[in-house]
Amino acid sequence: MRELPALLTEIGGNMPIGFIVLDERGIIRLANAAVLRMFDLDAGQAWQDQSLGIFLDVPELDEMISVILQGGGHRNDVAFERECAAGAHAYLADLSVAQMGEEQVVLFMVQDITLRKQSEDEIHRLAFYDALTALPNRRLLQERLAQSMSISARSGKHGALMFIDLDNFKSLNDTQGHDIGDLLLQEVASRLTRNVREGDTVARLGGDEFVVALESLNSIAQEAAAQAETIAEKIRNELSHPYQLGGIEHHSSPSIGVSLFRGHQSNLDEVLKQADLAMYQAKASGRNKVCFFDPEMQAKMEYRAELEQDLRASLRLQQLMLYYQMQVDDSGLVIGAEALLRWQHPQRGMVSPAQFIPLAEEMGMILPIGDWVIEQACAQLKRWERDPTMRDIRLSVNVSARQLSQPYFVELVKEAIEQTGIRASHLKLELTESFILNDVEEAIEKMLELRASGVRFAMDDFGTGYSSLAYLSRLPLEQLKIDQSFVRGIARDKNSQVMVRTIINIAHNFGLEIVAEGVETDEQLAFLRQYGCNKFQGYLFGRPVALPEFEQLCRAVPAFA
Ligand code: C2E
Ligand code: MG
Ligand code: MG
Repeated sequence: MRELPALLTEIGGNMPIGFIVLDERGIIRLANAAVLRMFDLDAGQAWQDQSLGIFLDVPELDEMISVILQGGGHRNDVAFERECAAGAHAYLADLSVAQMGEEQVVLFMVQDITLRKQSEDEIHRLAFYDALTALPNRRLLQERLAQSMSISARSGKHGALMFIDLDNFKSLNDTQGHDIGDLLLQEVASRLTRNVREGDTVARLGGDEFVVALESLNSIAQEAAAQAETIAEKIRNELSHPYQLGGIEHHSSPSIGVSLFRGHQSNLDEVLKQADLAMYQAKASGRNKVCFFDPEMQAKMEYRAELEQDLRASLRLQQLMLYYQMQVDDSGLVIGAEALLRWQHPQRGMVSPAQFIPLAEEMGMILPIGDWVIEQACAQLKRWERDPTMRDIRLSVNVSARQLSQPYFVELVKEAIEQTGIRASHLKLELTESFILNDVEEAIEKMLELRASGVRFAMDDFGTGYSSLAYLSRLPLEQLKIDQSFVRGIARDKNSQVMVRTIINIAHNFGLEIVAEGVETDEQLAFLRQYGCNKFQGYLFGRPVALPEFEQLCRAVPAFA
């Protein structure tokens, strides 16, 4: 084994940590090889008897040293940077006091942390930036937005968030491949960055979704909105110029949703959601547009979304039920009833079919609901067969165009009739004219097939749609129903009167029954009877009611003729 001091010198020279010993005046007494390497010095250079200042430029250093010497313990993690031959390097140093013989000295230990810092920076970059466009990602955007909100809270100025989605991006990706799609995203990123101010943030959320956050807009909301709109329009215009993507010229446009914020009035997720909603509005109104968030629109969409969710569960939770409304003949006898859906919602109470049927149509829920209505109606007809008062009542069921167009529809109706064993002639299906907009030939075929097994058909809301007389002659209808809007107009306007009389004539000429809907007054009734209508439905005779009430009404109804 070699002599200890020599060994120590060698260890000291090879270790990656640099150390310097300073005397009480801060003058360098000793420095190891590592520190000389770090600072590009060699042993021959005049570093001895100098202060630390020849190595580094840390203004507070003298102050730190004197505090430590006065018994101030030690200092960890003094960070500093320094230009070396190989570029900027980062260092981290510790200062502590030690006793060397009689003398008190200061130990300065330093580590080159350049590589560690680089990998930390890289981790930061990966965690906070989008790899494709080098823009901030969602996480960093959220951080920046939180800052913007605080700044806005202090200054009282508005900020704005723009949600930008490229129109038809998917089709570019699908037809030209992802590489070309990536080029577009990169070009969009640089156009966005070029068109905002320094303090503003451009971020990519993923896919073709970008967000621009604007700071320090006017403190008056209207002014701020105008400023945001100008910038949004500028961006929309910029992003609509043609792109050169790997030799391909491509045309694209954005849909932009804008939401304003001030201070912490709304939270961050809310503002993002609002801008997103506005963006959807921009898409819905034809793309390549700028739309502002509108609270009313949000309320509507939220209501709809809730209703949609609840509607999905309504069948399973047995919240749907049928009401029945009587139809009477000229002598006041109940000849039929219309089954009308009701949704008993636990919070909202009775929801009108006018509200939920269109929604059910859009969602496709109309199919299971409609099927359920037909099954219920057949079961009810069967029960009425055994009741002398009710046994001759014909039950009308509303069928939506979408339901009729299902391939299984004819089978479903036939099966319901067979399984319950009802007289098919007592089931009437009400169609609206809208089904003619679909495949008429197919619809006629289905109607004929059902008619052959005894089922009857009525045309509901007649006169409000598009039916042509040519179709009317080909449809196996039994009945036309005059829409209630015309009946309501009888007392008020000539046009309604003309419509009512015309519809009655059409029915007579085609040999069809005629029923007037929505009859509420004696005056309406008198007019209808005068022109030859002899079947009625409306509040004048009975409102739609639940089954027990309906049966009671039927037993009590007096003839009026
Ligand atoms: P609709 O088939 O034309 O039904 C007549 C509507 O007029 C019913 O509204 C009924 O309550 C209302 N009504 C009846 N008499 C009067 C009256 O004298 N005055 C006034 N102001 N209104 C009267 P309801 O029950 O709200 O149903 C609205 C619509 O919802 C129905 O119009 C029908 O298109 C649809 N609907 C109801 N049940 C079903 C169903 O089971 N399936 C399908 N697909 N649609 C249904
Ligand atoms: Mg109807
Ligand atoms: Mg109707």
